[in-house]
Amino acid sequence: MPATPAWPPASTPRLFIDSALGEGMAVPVDGAAANYLGNVMRLKEGDPVRLFDDRTGEWLAEVSSVSKRSLTLAITAQLSVREDVPDLWLVAAPIKKGRIDWVAEKACELGVARLVPVITRRTIVDRLNVERLRTHMIEAAEQCGRTALPEITEPVKLGALLRDWPADRTLYFADEAGGLPFVDVAKPGPAAILVGPEGGFTDEERVAIRAVPGATGTSLGPRILRAETAAAAAIAIWMAAAGDWRSESR
Ligand code: SAH
Repeated sequence: MPATPAWPPASTPRLFIDSALGEGMAVPVDGAAANYLGNVMRLKEGDPVRLFDDRTGEWLAEVSSVSKRSLTLAITAQLSVREDVPDLWLVAAPIKKGRIDWVAEKACELGVARLVPVITRRTIVDRLNVERLRTHMIEAAEQCGRTALPEITEPVKLGALLRDWPADRTLYFADEAGGLPFVDVAKPGPAAILVGPEGGFTDEERVAIRAVPGATGTSLGPRILRAETAAAAAIAIWMAAAGDWRSESR
């Protein structure tokens, strides 16, 4: 047993702050976060909180004042620098609320660097609340000890996405009609996984996607998966085969 207990305790609340943090800073907290810390967690003056900002890393802070609707946290020490995240984008067609929220949460946990919602011919969701997806990613990052958040972009149409595709980024197209086993072709380096909506891709879309230089049609096995399962499975395969789940990448 270590003579001194680990500090801060593992149960210390973690909070994402959307601005750069630094030594000695006073951080005002209001709204839902203040309600959570003050009323749900019942923090008092002097209690520890862990903060991260997706920029500098993670910091230890303590509550310096509490009022009814806000609190102030005083940063006392840096706990870690921002983690490195593999350069993987998830390009996914919006699917129904609840399922797309799940995709955002899991993409964050699994270590995706950017989530790009893509509008395809068979996309049935007409309005996507990007802020709601970002909230799900923030909650996952807070719970899972993460110091980095995926970026999320505004939805983009498939045609425009393919037209402007960056030449240095491999586009792994999860094709329910079949392709090379993803586990065999996933390679390290800038990458993106493209997953379709509930109704899949049209034949014309398949042709257009495969025409992009560097695009690789890949299979996630002999069974058709729901879009959200395909997204999570594909990320896991890439992380294991080409990302930072390998021992040599640690
Ligand atoms: N309704 C469609 C299936 C769509 S599945 C049909 O019956 O054909 C939704 C998306 O998940 C697909 O567009 C694809 O990107 C991905 N996907 C599902 N199963 C897959 C598999 N076995 N291999 C590769 N991609 C798959």
